[in-house]
Amino acid sequence: MRGPHIRGLAVAVAVTTAATGLAGTAFAGPATGTDHAVAATGTTAASVVTAARAAAFAHAAATGVVPGDGLRAKDVMIDPEGARHVRFIRTHQGMPVLGGDLVVHLSRQLAYTGVTRAADHSVEPATTRPELTAAQAETKAAAVAKGDAGTARLVVDARDGRAALAYQVPVSDSDTTEATGTRTVVIDAVTGKIRSNTPDSDEFLSPELLDTLRERGETLNPATGTAAQPTALTAAGASRAVHYPVTATGTGASLFVGKVPLTTTRTARTSYLLKDPTRWGTETRDAKGQELESFARGKAFTSTNDKWGNGTVSHRDSAAVDAQYGITKTLDFYKKTFGRKGIANDGKAARGMVHFGNKVANAFWDSTCDCMLYGDGDGDMFKKPLVVLDVTGHELTHGVVDATAELEPTRVDADGNQYGEAGSLNESLADIFGSNVEFSANNAKNPPNYLIGEKLGLAQKFLRRLDHPSLDKLEGTIDYWSPQTYDAEVHAGSGVSSHAYYLLAEGSGRKTIGGFAYDSPTYDGSTVTGIGRAKATAIFYRALTRYMVSTTDFHDARLATLKAAADLYGANSTAYQTVDKAWAAVNVTVANTPAARR
Ligand SMILES: [Zn+2]
Repeated sequence: MRGPHIRGLAVAVAVTTAATGLAGTAFAGPATGTDHAVAATGTTAASVVTAARAAAFAHAAATGVVPGDGLRAKDVMIDPEGARHVRFIRTHQGMPVLGGDLVVHLSRQLAYTGVTRAADHSVEPATTRPELTAAQAETKAAAVAKGDAGTARLVVDARDGRAALAYQVPVSDSDTTEATGTRTVVIDAVTGKIRSNTPDSDEFLSPELLDTLRERGETLNPATGTAAQPTALTAAGASRAVHYPVTATGTGASLFVGKVPLTTTRTARTSYLLKDPTRWGTETRDAKGQELESFARGKAFTSTNDKWGNGTVSHRDSAAVDAQYGITKTLDFYKKTFGRKGIANDGKAARGMVHFGNKVANAFWDSTCDCMLYGDGDGDMFKKPLVVLDVTGHELTHGVVDATAELEPTRVDADGNQYGEAGSLNESLADIFGSNVEFSANNAKNPPNYLIGEKLGLAQKFLRRLDHPSLDKLEGTIDYWSPQTYDAEVHAGSGVSSHAYYLLAEGSGRKTIGGFAYDSPTYDGSTVTGIGRAKATAIFYRALTRYMVSTTDFHDARLATLKAAADLYGANSTAYQTVDKAWAAVNVTVANTPAARR
């Protein structure tokens, strides 16, 4: 999702499984002698949240938390190395504060050790008395987003360098958004100025990229199919009494990843559901060509023999096989690598719908539906459904980012293109972890690599790549940071941190990995020796979940990954030093850190 809405939140405690490496050296936060924290008798989520909230008010000069603020815990992280981190969403005088998020860091003894905050400035607006009425704000939002306005609510918008009183208005059926038509409009409650107007779903392909492909007349008809015919029915089990539903193992003939096993639900002797009970009930449904944004209205996929699809688009189930496979492989990557239980780490199902809309050439992470939506392609430019594995890994990672740092673009233009470093970082993390999903799945029909969208059938053979981002000529992805990156389109800008990640993992220069040849350049001609994908990925994940907030830019990301590396491997480790080198190699350094922009 891209909308700056704030959801109802459950506190989830994530006790990370031990990552590789040494016990953490705590990062250098402001050391305080005062220990107001409750005694560390046990570390329940509630006691950690209570201590973190008290610390946020007690250390107001550092945290920026003022009287009148309310702090609601979004996430609690308990590190095996000892540190505790609580991510808060803020209200001021009862109003949600957009860009008011912060993470409070505590020691094992629950003493305050530091803060990561989205807004460096005060979140108190000059006035709390609106000039506009809610009805006027709704009318204005409906007009600008060309749709139906919902109920306006007063918020504090602290995202753009200063705090302002504003109305936040949800708009449905917007004509300004391709496919999923819900948007969030924020209007200054005093001046009536539109502060932001953002779509609530993340499109895999940006409006600008679709225009580029149209101009080039590219037709994407990627090779699909397994040609595998369903094999003979297996014996339907002995006649012992079975209490349905039970877990079953079916077979799917996918479009892009060959024949794959699928864990399904057997609901009766000859009835199966494409729903995985071993992964919290993760399920893929059929949107039946409608622009459904409600998963409940999707049609369940059922089978009489637990065999799904035929490897071609002639069977409605085939795209569902790719989707369900991709979603479950993404969940598996996050669980086995980081102990993360589901997209929001709350042990809840992930969900997808295929055959979304009529001739939709895109795939989305939709926050309204809280699900993945896959179009079938427009039949003109995109001939096949957009259900490839790294697209799913990319899009579901946007769900993980939503549940953690919730990185936001700094602006969205009238066509829906997004700009800014925090948004670029969001796209980059989606590519980094999306690529890791491929490595984790390790399917011979979809060989893992550092390329994104290599199975979409594009003329340049990939959409983006992490080793040398500027080889992409479609979105103009960049290799290195410059002051202009501040306002880069988010997919183009993503190259900076994607490139830093690749250098950290694999190093600079020529390298062949799994039959793919890479040649990663550096800004300053330096040589970087990689620390391996596992360590690099652990560092980026810890940085995302502990040390990034909604406004984190590339220089902040450098600091976040340094802290993460210090936690995991120590501040004198090779890993820590390589993080520093990798960022310098993409021109992100202490020396060129811009003055505060917030
Ligand atoms: Zn994306």
